[in-house]
Amino acid sequence: MVYDLVIHDGLVVDGSGRPVFRADLGIKDGRIVELGPINPDESVHRIDASGLVVAPGFIDIHSHSDITLIANPRAESKVRQGVTTEVVGNCGGSAAPFLGLAKDQEAERYGVDIDWRSLAEYLERLEEGVAVNVAALVGHGTVRQCVMDMEGRAPTRGELEEMKELVDGAMRDGAFGLSSGLVYPPGRYAETGELVELCRVVAGHGGFYASHIRGERETMIEALGEAIEIGERAGVPVQVSHHPAKIGAWGRSVETLAMMDEAQSRGVDVTCDMHPYIGGSTSLSALLPPWAQAGGPERIVERLRRPEKRGRIRLDMMEEKVPGPDPCGLVKRGMWEKILISAYPEDWPIGRNLAELAAEMGVDPFDAYFDLLEVSGAAGSVVGFYYNEEDIRNVLRHPRSMIGSDGYALAPYGVLGGGRNHPRSYGTFPMVIRKYVMGVSRPELVYDEAAKVVSLEEAVMKMTSLPARRLKQGDRGLVRVGCWADVVVFDPEKITDTATYLDPYMYPTGMEHVLVNGVAVISGGEHTGALPGKPLRLGSGRS
Ligand SMILES: [Zn+2]
Repeated sequence: MVYDLVIHDGLVVDGSGRPVFRADLGIKDGRIVELGPINPDESVHRIDASGLVVAPGFIDIHSHSDITLIANPRAESKVRQGVTTEVVGNCGGSAAPFLGLAKDQEAERYGVDIDWRSLAEYLERLEEGVAVNVAALVGHGTVRQCVMDMEGRAPTRGELEEMKELVDGAMRDGAFGLSSGLVYPPGRYAETGELVELCRVVAGHGGFYASHIRGERETMIEALGEAIEIGERAGVPVQVSHHPAKIGAWGRSVETLAMMDEAQSRGVDVTCDMHPYIGGSTSLSALLPPWAQAGGPERIVERLRRPEKRGRIRLDMMEEKVPGPDPCGLVKRGMWEKILISAYPEDWPIGRNLAELAAEMGVDPFDAYFDLLEVSGAAGSVVGFYYNEEDIRNVLRHPRSMIGSDGYALAPYGVLGGGRNHPRSYGTFPMVIRKYVMGVSRPELVYDEAAKVVSLEEAVMKMTSLPARRLKQGDRGLVRVGCWADVVVFDPEKITDTATYLDPYMYPTGMEHVLVNGVAVISGGEHTGALPGKPLRLGSGRS
């Protein structure tokens, strides 16, 4: 037999952006070896793809699956979307290095036993079997924690040297770059100069800098300016994470995209990623000012029982001197209709927004919120719709934006089955196609205003060749002879996300086949149990 597998008569969207064309695909030893008319008798296996799109497997440029892939290597919620490569270690947090003072809350949460220290050892652990390919970033917050724990100060010269050595070691082990999360401790304690120094090490290895920038709301312009400055001073490409502006910066994507273009014209390689969801979730009590959350649920409820405390909390929430989670930006602006109860010990408020609940309870929204906390013992979660549809569309249209879920490889069963309250881990890639290529809305997703914003060819490019180029993986992200056979087969009219904010653990539908390195992980819409993914290392692919 000439081929292991032939995908017959598909509509090839090859990832480069070129218009769709009809072809057969021949696969042998994990690679695409033929693109053109193929005699079906020459293959062991055959997929009939007539009427279906055949595209490169999606590369999730912004994922947090470091630990969840160890907890369940089948990568269910991702591979069913068509994701064949996960880029982990984002927002400053990575599973490795795990040394010194490092702790890992994810590992504790999922009962994963950390038996690695270096990134090399973590990647070896993945080699024991994982459904998708994995490219790892090294997290600045993680490296800082290894050396300085959570201390809120600048590093000494010696500590900075230690951090540089850890970054250097991770890059030698195959990391693709450094990530930062500059709104979270300990990342937020770092000044620009510290990041420049660490990024110089990354530049020396040809990696990139991915940043959850220092502010995505009122201070977004300065924060983006810092990321570009780091790129320029360190000589490192910059990937701006989950870019569209949040509340407080709505409408400013026009400026931020212009800043990226301007930097690009000066030779700083700046790209960004995004997911299509306009809402994000947090716990019900997280909207309170930090001091009012201290001591845990019982103390919170005690405070809310005292009217004078309620008054102070209300004022602090309106001022928001200490920036809280993003829905706090909605509270401060009185946009209670954009905050929805997504989990609660009782059923009645679930799925309803705080403006309507307040009207029903006959109190103002602050008191409705306080009462809900008091009754529930400070339990529950909210979804805040703090992104702006126009900004999401602007970023999606931009030629250098990519798709990244900002989610996890999860599964509705087992240890990964509960507690994560966001549908993006299950729906990002199908949602982009459904909402912005096909223009189909899902009313149950709330504020889901669909429109045809990009072509299928453009959308696929943002999911495949653009991230592959950022990773310097020249033999992935394209349907081209010689490339690895990371391939998806789907019907663009049928593919859809089904997860919602209230029911996030729902697999998407319409993804018929997913091959990773030539091996079927999804076949006829079902997971085969195969684990053909590989840990990737910077410099390992043809660039
Ligand atoms: Zn982030």
